[in-house]
Amino acid sequence: MAEKTQSNGKGYVGSIAPHGGTLVNRKLRGEMAESTRQMAQSLTQIVLSPMNVSDLELIAVGALSPLTGFMTEAEYHSVVDDMHLTNGLPWTIPVTLPVDREMAGSLAIGQTVALAEPAPDGGTHLMGVMEISEIFPYDKETEAREVYLTTEDAHPGVARIYKQGDMLLGGDIWVFDLPIAAQTEFPELRHTPAQTRRMFAQNGWQRIVAFQTRNPIHRAHEYIQKTALEIVDGLFIHPLVGETKKDDIPADVRIQSYEAILRDYYPADRVMLGVFPAAMRYAGPREAVFHAIARKNYGCTHFIVGRDHAGVGNYYGTYDAQDIFDEFDPALIDITPLKFEHAFYCKKCEAVVTAKTCPHDRENWVFLSGTQVRELLAKGEMLPREFTRPEVSKVLVEGMKRLGGENGEES
Ligand SMILES: [Zn+2]
Repeated sequence: MAEKTQSNGKGYVGSIAPHGGTLVNRKLRGEMAESTRQMAQSLTQIVLSPMNVSDLELIAVGALSPLTGFMTEAEYHSVVDDMHLTNGLPWTIPVTLPVDREMAGSLAIGQTVALAEPAPDGGTHLMGVMEISEIFPYDKETEAREVYLTTEDAHPGVARIYKQGDMLLGGDIWVFDLPIAAQTEFPELRHTPAQTRRMFAQNGWQRIVAFQTRNPIHRAHEYIQKTALEIVDGLFIHPLVGETKKDDIPADVRIQSYEAILRDYYPADRVMLGVFPAAMRYAGPREAVFHAIARKNYGCTHFIVGRDHAGVGNYYGTYDAQDIFDEFDPALIDITPLKFEHAFYCKKCEAVVTAKTCPHDRENWVFLSGTQVRELLAKGEMLPREFTRPEVSKVLVEGMKRLGGENGEES
């Protein structure tokens, strides 16, 4: 690998620095991995939630640089109250490891614990270790109000906070074995930030725009992606594949739909597909910034922010996820947010447009709500071709059939 020749002398590959300047790598290899794995067998095990399993993978591979572990109390409060890490870098989402009071009471500061996930055989799969530097309580309602902008438990992110343990463990982590999902769910697309940075460099891409999604690519998304691609070198389609709400379309069906549309409608030398192993928090504006910073770590220079990015229900204002970027020093965020309107097909324009580019009345616009999409797919019907390419519709209809029609798409 020509990593050395592509390095710019700054300690990272690519045209944009990782958040904080250094790409974190907490994945142990070779003998270190072996000896730590051996040691972990006899340690107290903390069994992580699906979201924490995702967080662990993201920290280990550097996607959450500069984080090297789960947040300590000072970092936690700095992020919740002030949207910055204690070192002054923008950071909007607490990345914490909750445990119940009983577990917390059995642990001591300075203790090394094993981090595990439930295994398919009913046992646990050991992934790494954590040195506990702090054990601290936190106020769930404050976190909900500040980060999710609501204390209602109808919000899926807030409901999760209320259900999780009352105490947080802070400290650095080391991983010797990535989660089972890293080997079983899209391993060929699960590029690490170090890998995507090399791949972008090999393609000769200086300017790369990332597209975050947890939905199929409808015509509207295709329009936005291609509009963005006009002003950069490469497009990185980076669907989130960690835990989502159960009415979101499952990741495997979505990946099939992406592959179908990329094959027929995107230039292969300008587009790359990868998966982002994060869980959805549905924290709207704050999660938009979190998503952008993670994509900077993957080596992207631009980030598409749609209306109501990472939103759910009616908890966030239409432009909140775009406006929040203005609250930060652009030099510290560094990745450039590209703010887009909703797009749709206009029968008079005979093209995909936005309210910014089309002068016609709404009655000419082809709109489908999430509920309408769900209903059509549940009935096994193709979506209108002005809304979704037939190649994508076909994958979705077949996928939904296989799942018995119990899943659908969030609007
Ligand atoms: Zn029009």
